Amino acid sequence: GEPVILSEKCIGCLKCVKVCPAEALEMFFTPEEQQLLDELARQQGADAAAAEEVDEEAAALAQMLAAYRGVWVFVEQTEGEPARVSWELMGVGAQLAQSLQTELCAVVIGENVEHLCHEAFAHGASKAYLLDQPVFRHYRTEAYLEACCTLIGTYQPEIVLMGATGMGRDLAGAVATRVKTGLTADCTGLDVDDRRNLRQTRPAFGGNIMATIMCDRFRPQMATVRPHVMPLPERQAGATGEIVREEVALAEADILTKVLEIIRDKKAGEVDIAGAEFIVSGGRGMMAKENFGMLQELADELGGVVGASRSAVDAGWMPHERQVGQTGKTVRPKIYIACGISGAIQHLVGMQDSDLVIAINRDREAPIFDVATYGIVGDLFQIVPAITQRLRDLKQ
Ligand code: FAD
Repeated sequence: GEPVILSEKCIGCLKCVKVCPAEALEMFFTPEEQQLLDELARQQGADAAAAEEVDEEAAALAQMLAAYRGVWVFVEQTEGEPARVSWELMGVGAQLAQSLQTELCAVVIGENVEHLCHEAFAHGASKAYLLDQPVFRHYRTEAYLEACCTLIGTYQPEIVLMGATGMGRDLAGAVATRVKTGLTADCTGLDVDDRRNLRQTRPAFGGNIMATIMCDRFRPQMATVRPHVMPLPERQAGATGEIVREEVALAEADILTKVLEIIRDKKAGEVDIAGAEFIVSGGRGMMAKENFGMLQELADELGGVVGASRSAVDAGWMPHERQVGQTGKTVRPKIYIACGISGAIQHLVGMQDSDLVIAINRDREAPIFDVATYGIVGDLFQIVPAITQRLRDLKQ
């Protein structure tokens, strides 16, 4: 009999037309239907093309990322003297290199600085890229930028770390801009995820949150870390490694900046709280400038120095170079004694990695007690002199 088409079931797929052995079936669409079908087909094609494009893009990205290997630490030096932060970075760099199953390399730039390569090996590097030329005698952005970018272009490191010092901040920003990658400044934590991305943690929004930043589409991944944030690795005397010598075609005449003289800014007698092993810090609870004498006496007994919170600095009781915290210095002493300091997050980020923290505060709820190894709830004007006296008694 006559074939019947169930129009409520037919979706116009044309399968029946194709399978009919007698080629007895034909299907026609109204112009409106045909237009709809054409539109559907066009969309499907576009989706497939887009998917293909995404695949291709992902593959190209994966290939680019895979070309970069190795963890680099820039070894900062002034007149051949290395900055301690470089060795601190070697410690965390070694952990990253181990997680990534790659090598830890030092980048040494200067004039007559080969000894720093050996010092880098003693602090954990297995390779050192050395650029030893008169043009690198003094740090100048243009010259060091050229040097770093040449090395990065040739050897393609996965991670580049620098100290968040005057020099490191200047150089890292310039390099990241030139090689078109990301840079996270002032990191307080560094580790890697399972896709080889560097997880760069740092305080954000005035220290109210910790942000973990990643640079997953560009290489190298660049970060700066402030001095004293990372622990100094143990020095292995006599450790060896490979020195890779490179040269950059740079003439002195090409560099516009000239260094005429180096004047050290530290005045005689100025205290370096960042390098101190014992710090006695005072906050707003000290009530007046004169009362800091009490802290100095305790610091003297310990062979340490006096630090301060920002409130104490803002009140004019202590100079700014004594300030501990986010906008002050990061310290990592053996013992940190906080006197009359509440423990605001901006203060904590500057001292929480001290080996031992003793907090003296009359408010039992003060957040400083959360990071304290020993907490003393009470009046500092009684407790501080008592501790000093006890130390004096012990010495006799
Ligand atoms: P307070 O918070 O006023 O605490 C005083 C404490 O003393 C109280 O806990 C009180 O119980 C205790 N006290 C009072 N009298 C006695 C007594 N007789 N005996 C015992 N305890 C007593 N702060 C920094 O320190 N460093 C920074 O680098 C820094 N950077 C900042 C950056 C930004 C962007 C911002 C917004 C803030 C920053 N701050 C910084 C400020 C920070 O938020 C706090 O305001 C500051 O740390 C508070 O200082 P304090 O603990 O001395 O004072």
